[in-house]
Amino acid sequence: MEPFAEVPLFEMDQDEDEEEDVLSMKSRGDCTHARHDLVPPASTEHDTFIYTNFMKSHCCYDAIPTSSKLVIFDTTLQVKKAFFALVANGVRAAPLWDNKLKCFVGMLTITDFINILHRYYKSPLVQIYELEEHKIETWREIYLQYSINRLISITPDCSLFDAIYSLLKNKIHRLPVIDPVSGNVLHILTHKRILKFLHIFGSMIPKPRFLQKRIHEVAIGTFKQIATVQETASVYDALTIFVERRVSALPVVNEQGKVVALYSRFDVINLAAQKNYNNLNMTMQEAIASRACCMEGVLKCYPYETLETIIDRIAKAEVHRLVLVDSDDVVRGIVSLSDLLQALVLTPAVSCRLHDAVSSMKPPSPLSQHIPDIFERSCCQD
Ligand code: ADP
Ligand code: ADP
Ligand code: AMP
Repeated sequence: MEPFAEVPLFEMDQDEDEEEDVLSMKSRGDCTHARHDLVPPASTEHDTFIYTNFMKSHCCYDAIPTSSKLVIFDTTLQVKKAFFALVANGVRAAPLWDNKLKCFVGMLTITDFINILHRYYKSPLVQIYELEEHKIETWREIYLQYSINRLISITPDCSLFDAIYSLLKNKIHRLPVIDPVSGNVLHILTHKRILKFLHIFGSMIPKPRFLQKRIHEVAIGTFKQIATVQETASVYDALTIFVERRVSALPVVNEQGKVVALYSRFDVINLAAQKNYNNLNMTMQEAIASRACCMEGVLKCYPYETLETIIDRIAKAEVHRLVLVDSDDVVRGIVSLSDLLQALVLTPAVSCRLHDAVSSMKPPSPLSQHIPDIFERSCCQD
């Protein structure tokens, strides 16, 4: 029997964080670990700092669900078994334990699977020896010369602001929360989890007026040089774009440039689930049709929609980004959770510091900068 053949692919909401989990945090009352003082905003600037203050006044512990699944890999495990184990357990990433050093040394994510496939794939007729034979530690020896070579983690008493800062600064999507006393990993925080927390508790704080601005006014997102992939391109082509552009997902477009699907890094794990990682010549159309578990259609947004609508849609759908399209469904941008957290939480903090440093010089509000006309340019490129 083939291992894991019967195991269903990931649940759509792998974060295992049912809303009750988040809501149950209300019963704990205010976070006693919050370590940042609230920035006292001038009343006119209150709106700008509202989410920064919110994130500074809640700690990572607050956003941890009451129960969730956590998988840890020993670095001596074979990489192929590790990726199968991610699938079998319905998780997207695992902290890596080095038994010689007796500590966590890194993370294994789907990006690592993509990097291995892309680096060693030759043709459908040649088995990827490195995937079959390498241990995680062997792969890390090769790969870590070019990437993060330590575990980036956070402690439960750090603020959510710190967690967002770490996720965005290090350009990672998984941040383990480690108990400093026991050394145990308590949870793996993600942008999704943090936005969900904000979405639920945000209703308890005053709604800032800028939420009513349209996305093209606030210019939150990426509107130039959007990485897309043609539906006739191969999966290998898509992996090449993931590796070279380091983007988390690709809108799949037809010949007219209209978006027809979305292929995210997460979807690549289907190749492990279905054991067809030896055939990366299949087309995007084939890969998309064979996805075991995926969203119906593409989750999009339009430039005239308000920030509030967009946050609501992305939080409810529990996806990492929306594809910004025009009325012809042509891709014009990406609004990712990274963009939203940057604009709502981090950028105001920077302008607040500037404000403190140069109190006589009022910095421009991040939400009222010069807005590029995102429709002047065609943003699609393969
Ligand atoms: P994905 O989007 O596939 O889940 P990430 O963008 O988080 O993955 O990962 C990018 C790279 O950074 C991968 O090689 C992964 O192993 C590594 N990485 C991710 N999170 C961490 C972390 N907390 N500490 C160290 N390395 C990490
Ligand atoms: P992750 O939790 O790893 O960040 P993603 O949100 O990127 O995962 O993807 C989870 C699933 O949702 C994937 O199957 C992906 O194709 C799908 N998905 C993500 N964003 C969109 C979108 N904007 N439209 C349609 N499907 C999406
Ligand atoms: P993410 O990796 O999705 O958290 O996003 C990091 C940054 O990359 C954000 O500014 C996104 O807007 C941008 N981004 C995400 N996907 C794409 C893409 N396909 N093309 C161009 N930029 C992207």
